[in-house]
Amino acid sequence: MTKERRRLKLAIQGAVQGVGFRPFVFRLATELELSGWINNTGAGVTIEVEGQAERLREFRRRLETEKPVHSALYSMEVSELDPAGYASFEIRESEGGAKRAVILPDLATCEPCRAELFDPADRRHRYPFINCTNCGPRFSIIEALPYDRPNTTMKRFEMCPACQAEYEDPADRRFHAQPNACPVCGPHVALWDNQGSVVAAREEAIRQACDRVRNGEIVAAKGIGGFLLLVDARNDGAVKRLRRLKDREEKPFALMFPTLAQLEEQCQVPEAEKRLLLSAASPIVLLPRLSTAPSVIARAVAPGNPYLGVMLPYAPLLLLIMSELGFPVVATSGNLKDEPICVDEREALGRLGAMVDCFLVHNRPIVRPIDDSIVRLLAGREAIMRRARGYAPLPLTLSDTGATVLAVGAHLKNTVALAAGPQIVLSQHLGDLETPEALDGFEKAVSALEDMYQASPEMVACDLHPGYESTRYARRLDAPVIAVQHHYAHILACMAENEVEGPALGVSWDGTGYGLDGTIWGGEFLDVDEASFSRAAHLRTFPLPGGEQAVREPRRSAMGVLFELFGAGAFGMRDLAPVQAFSEADLRLLEGALSRGINSPRTSSAGRLFDAASSLLALRQRNSFEGQAAMELEFACAEVLADDGYSFELCRREAPDKSILIDWGPAINDLIEDIRAGTDPGLMAARFHNGLTEAVVAVAKEIGREKVVLSGGCFQNRYLAERTISRLTQEGFRPYWHQRFPPNDGGISLGQAVAAIRAKGGK
Ligand code: ZN
Ligand code: ZN
Ligand code: FE
Repeated sequence: MTKERRRLKLAIQGAVQGVGFRPFVFRLATELELSGWINNTGAGVTIEVEGQAERLREFRRRLETEKPVHSALYSMEVSELDPAGYASFEIRESEGGAKRAVILPDLATCEPCRAELFDPADRRHRYPFINCTNCGPRFSIIEALPYDRPNTTMKRFEMCPACQAEYEDPADRRFHAQPNACPVCGPHVALWDNQGSVVAAREEAIRQACDRVRNGEIVAAKGIGGFLLLVDARNDGAVKRLRRLKDREEKPFALMFPTLAQLEEQCQVPEAEKRLLLSAASPIVLLPRLSTAPSVIARAVAPGNPYLGVMLPYAPLLLLIMSELGFPVVATSGNLKDEPICVDEREALGRLGAMVDCFLVHNRPIVRPIDDSIVRLLAGREAIMRRARGYAPLPLTLSDTGATVLAVGAHLKNTVALAAGPQIVLSQHLGDLETPEALDGFEKAVSALEDMYQASPEMVACDLHPGYESTRYARRLDAPVIAVQHHYAHILACMAENEVEGPALGVSWDGTGYGLDGTIWGGEFLDVDEASFSRAAHLRTFPLPGGEQAVREPRRSAMGVLFELFGAGAFGMRDLAPVQAFSEADLRLLEGALSRGINSPRTSSAGRLFDAASSLLALRQRNSFEGQAAMELEFACAEVLADDGYSFELCRREAPDKSILIDWGPAINDLIEDIRAGTDPGLMAARFHNGLTEAVVAVAKEIGREKVVLSGGCFQNRYLAERTISRLTQEGFRPYWHQRFPPNDGGISLGQAVAAIRAKGGK
């Protein structure tokens, strides 16, 4: 495995030009016998190196630890790609043409700034807004390009002579650090009660806010990309109160730990995850809990979940709070359900006043809401599940796109994208477009992209679904619209970030997407060529009684599946959990609806099939958050070693639609037999996953494309993704999966942009 050649692509933003960085990289790559190249870009360098996996790891490690003293890496995004066959390592000419400005994401406080923050002799000792050229806010404070102080929300603070001197001294770490500030001239914090009266200021405000967290209260603290709600994570009562007030039944809360050492007492932290936690992006990382140690974390934080979403303090204010507290806190977005995170203290007071006990505010305005990002490791690589603080709006650089395209995304987990020149820039995660506030945030994100990059799109790409708010918005714009099929967009996004060209087989599995035939798709196999795609195979369809309601109630998917297999007989299967989960009267209503086909749209959704299995296994009948049932099915099989799987059968259909149908009927029959035999639920969950994986392999063999591209929300499921990747590899296929952009609908805007570029004949 280590003998296999891989290619790493590193997109680095930072102070890396004119400091001996390229010669350093050249020497390092040559010493490690890696081939590839490096060149300067608008705001950093791009490096490609290829060779043995072991050497590549070594390269990545030494790049960070041995880099030239005057260089600094602000941000680095790494993708693992197929080898390109480079013969040697070379320093390439900088790319010609117009260089596009790169807007940096917000960067976690750097080591030297952390040291100064806690140094009593430093003039910024305990100053919550310390930053320098290597760290601090960026995307959250920028109003326009170029990135100069008058174009940021720091324009209202005039630098004192000491700060101004640093700002003008090329030898200083704060040379042209736009958010540069100190206690004399910069922003300050204050503590408000939940009526908005000031109760304390500066140092005292932080001290009192910490006291209130210690006392089990809910504190809203204005952070980098918006307000965070902080609650003592050890206090079950306090966490439950937060759940009640936030109307959030069971969806896991993210945690912030004071130190890595304390985090390691609760979770397994492998090397790669450690690097992520300590990176400038400083995301929430999903980590398995330690099963051995008695947990200090309250049960209500992530009920029934073997993982915790954890992060370390990434801003000076959070560093001060966490060092004062010394224990982990829940750190969750300060917003109401389906609304963007609050960025302004007056707005926060109005919207969150009833839910929090006090507000720790400051007077440095935040331009746009930016949530914490979420990352997990998949098959040994980083995979971003929610792309926001620390990553947005770093671009994906392609060869010239040949078109200026705006892509407006889908409906859930929305992001928008702008393609221009050689770059596609994605907005931060904007959330589900379910409320007027969310829609407003979406429209602001679109105008921000257009204004900052001064681009007027020649084309607008949207989802094929006519009812999505994003689609309606696209149709109102004054540009030609291209509607892109949802699952095709998923696959194109994955292909683009992996630099893969067709032909390829795309496996696009999610909950819902509008199909070419107007029905709900979701278990799709797309044969993708250079210009378009065909639906090569899909899961057998089944009715969803109640339509949308089935998304919240897995038991409805289960009844749809049972009805498809057994007709009215399904309602007599009283020993099965979904049947038991309905009242007698409800069963009669369901039977009426299903037998007459009323409000029971048919779907090929893989997500709903997972729901059905979860319901049959008696794991979950109602979801309290999106994807919960499928998640619990994944967790159920985590501890089980099973190699056999339920049988999914491939049937080739007649012309004109010669697509392959994957019949889950035999698998569901196997499952019911296992349930009746009293089989261990973990074993059944694993067999269900394994069966689906074999179905992917079987279709791949039928279609005969070497490249198999995995995308859609189902591939956030680690067991499914990793097993599918390893089985495809064993069978001689080349699987590709997401790394920098989400497999869920957060990646749709990227795929839409690529589709529009393809349609225009660019690349
Ligand atoms: Zn710094
Ligand atoms: Zn100052
Ligand atoms: Fe999707």
